[in-house]
Amino acid sequence: MQDLSHYIDGELVAGTSGRFSDVLNPATGEVQARVPLATKDEMDAAIAKAAEAQKIWAATNPQKRARVMMKFGALINENMDKLAELVAREHGKTLPDARGDVQRGLEVVEVCMGAPHMLKGEYTDAGGPGIDLYSMRQPLGVVAGITPFNFPAMIPLWKMAPALSCGNAMILKPSERVPSTSLYLAELLKEAGLPDGVLQVVNGDKEAVDAILDNETIQAVGFVGSTPIAQYIYGRAATNGKRAQCFGGAKNHMLIMPDADLDKAADALVGAGFGAAGERCMAISVAVPVGKETADGLIERLIPRIEKLKVGPYTAGEDIDYGPVITPQAKARIEGLIDSGVEQGATLVTDGRGLSLQGYENGYFVGPTLFDDVTADMDIYKEEIFGPVLSTVRMDNYEDALNLVKDNAYGNGTAIYTADGDTARDFAHRVNVGMVGINFPIPVPLSYHTFGGWKKSAFGDLNQYGPDAFKFYTRTKTVTSRWFSGIKDGGEFNFKAMD
Ligand code: NAD
Repeated sequence: MQDLSHYIDGELVAGTSGRFSDVLNPATGEVQARVPLATKDEMDAAIAKAAEAQKIWAATNPQKRARVMMKFGALINENMDKLAELVAREHGKTLPDARGDVQRGLEVVEVCMGAPHMLKGEYTDAGGPGIDLYSMRQPLGVVAGITPFNFPAMIPLWKMAPALSCGNAMILKPSERVPSTSLYLAELLKEAGLPDGVLQVVNGDKEAVDAILDNETIQAVGFVGSTPIAQYIYGRAATNGKRAQCFGGAKNHMLIMPDADLDKAADALVGAGFGAAGERCMAISVAVPVGKETADGLIERLIPRIEKLKVGPYTAGEDIDYGPVITPQAKARIEGLIDSGVEQGATLVTDGRGLSLQGYENGYFVGPTLFDDVTADMDIYKEEIFGPVLSTVRMDNYEDALNLVKDNAYGNGTAIYTADGDTARDFAHRVNVGMVGINFPIPVPLSYHTFGGWKKSAFGDLNQYGPDAFKFYTRTKTVTSRWFSGIKDGGEFNFKAMD
């Protein structure tokens, strides 16, 4: 079993706290490594060193910083298979899905190759007599990224690429469940030319996070994870005067209108509901068919598709549809929520509880689970299950379906399947959710747009990546400049003292 490290000042460094967290293989239940959990002192020391390194990095011109991103992007491409394997080994997702995880992070690196353009300021010529105004975007200093387990490559890349290309140093605190991808990305960044100390990967748990939140040098915190922790981090960071954007959990609904192509909707729901074992913040976890015929037709189409799904370890080949959930606790929680759905009166159409795979009996596999007749007061509707469980809430009409989505506490993503442009347009306009798909199940925006939810899915201002990220990771300075009228009418030839 391997003891993992931190990555500090360009080197893998052993932890000194004596505290570790087990890194599991979710497919087998084995402990495959231990990750050190940093103390407050270790974190403070890493931040202090990052502050030194940041001065030189901020003084490096933006184009040179962008060239580091260019090389980094090339190295990610060259090492795609290794990165995907690291993701799959600790997270459990399939290799094609793991490559997608890396790819959607790489796309943010690609946008950051154009950072100099995004960092240009504004200029007003002659805003008053002899007065010009200009603004510049300056790096914040040392910023922190705190990331969840479910996208071991993508979300750390969403944090580090914009933060670094803006001239900041970053402390990355990855999820203790999946630390190896971040450690390897840090090595690739060094190879790409990032100076030592500009990216510090410090592993840890609450102690390390609290050290970040209370450290005066840290200027901004970008968090992604569950809603209670997002809200906590947002509050503590804000109290300590830091800029914070904290993205939380989700409960994403898909409306299926009577005019929708039900086969396409069922295909989309199977992928968006069960892909990555439902452990995506943009997973569709609630299907909302409008009208009885739509609902019956949808369930009828979902059942054979669900029965065909292959659940297994990533090592079993590329035709596996999804892998295990992340921990035994996650499996027990998901199965407990399925129990509650049955107890509270939902119809269990397919039951994923108690799945045991030959040779992987200790893995944390949960079979695809479909509920019908779910109502808004049930726990399976109210809670973010974060597992392969799809709930169907039947609605009589479009307005009720729309209101269901609007009344839900979360507002990360949503989708509508319809053949009617006017309905789609009305939905996109009126729904209070940050990312909307029209005949598109998982509407994660491309990297030159921005990603962010509404309501309890995000705390703070500005979205992740895209133009918002360059705003979040810089502060604006605006200069009002006046030059008094001088000598323009001809030279002065007398030798004069200054007066
Ligand atoms: P989590 O909240 O348990 O952990 C996220 C991070 O917070 C980790 O780095 C963890 O070490 C740290 N952390 C955990 N408990 C803490 C505490 N008490 N104090 C300080 N720090 C703490 O989330 P997770 O289980 O790793 O990830 C799954 C969650 O993330 C889901 O709710 C999912 O919807 C959400 N998520 C949201 C988005 C988004 O963009 N909105 C994207 C991906 C995942």
